[in-house]
Amino acid sequence: MDIFEVFARFPKQDDCIAYLEKVRWQGTPRCPYCKSSKQTPLPKEHRYHCNSCNTSYGVTVKTIFHRTRLPLQKWLLAVSLILNAKKGISARQLARHLKVNRNTAWRIGMQVRDAMYQPEHRNLLCGIVEMDETYVGGKPRRGSGKDVHIKHKCGRGTSKIPVVGMVERKGQVYAKVFGKSRLTLKKFSALVREKVDIQNTILMTDQYRSYLGMSRILPHKSIDHSIWYVRGDIHTNTIESFWALLKRGIVGQYHKVSLRHLPKYVDEFCYRYNHREQEDVFSLTIQRSLGAA
Ligand SMILES: [Zn+2]
Repeated sequence: MDIFEVFARFPKQDDCIAYLEKVRWQGTPRCPYCKSSKQTPLPKEHRYHCNSCNTSYGVTVKTIFHRTRLPLQKWLLAVSLILNAKKGISARQLARHLKVNRNTAWRIGMQVRDAMYQPEHRNLLCGIVEMDETYVGGKPRRGSGKDVHIKHKCGRGTSKIPVVGMVERKGQVYAKVFGKSRLTLKKFSALVREKVDIQNTILMTDQYRSYLGMSRILPHKSIDHSIWYVRGDIHTNTIESFWALLKRGIVGQYHKVSLRHLPKYVDEFCYRYNHREQEDVFSLTIQRSLGAA
């Protein structure tokens, strides 16, 4: 759903509430405190009185929209803008579109990202899985002030933050921020055991030392990037295109991402990538932000 559809479908606060109620409760309002469905509607306030625990509640209780003073339409617009921004959207851009201040936009963005967070119960990766790592952060924006001429070291052995990723060809991606810790075979193996169906997977990597030894846990092929980038089926092009997207987004839109927030941005890019072919990702995201998916 793009922003024009959001404007058309949810012109007023009432329309937004009706939509959220439908997504969250499918017609049967349920008390978020005691889970009872015995209620008396208080239509004027868009709330319900719970006949079991005697509290009153609205559809936004215990969700990212709880106690918001902003019109819900702005929240729905924010979800749409974030989902449609292939390269990410900065707080400043979001603020401009929503006509709110930058801090508010930043908070909304972070809460929508929370809703996009992919729970651990998702399926294991399988088939041909490419694994690689990249380094994020620290690079100044091109053309911004005095740092322009400083050459920045790239890749392994820098102070940037390592992110390790795995992607199924034509499938799902998983990426994890590794903090500033060293990337070792032990950590890579633990990650593969946790996220990959090792019985049904061939792993493709480059020849970084820490990947050697992976063949002890699953079939593993590696490509020597000092000689060639693609040898038959053996390449890591899929994960590298994902990195390109992630880095263009993070450097271009966010350019100052702290280690603390980086995992959320990485999740955001994974979420968009993993739902790239899903038709109604808007509703899914709203469901998640209401805790209903
Ligand atoms: Zn109740």
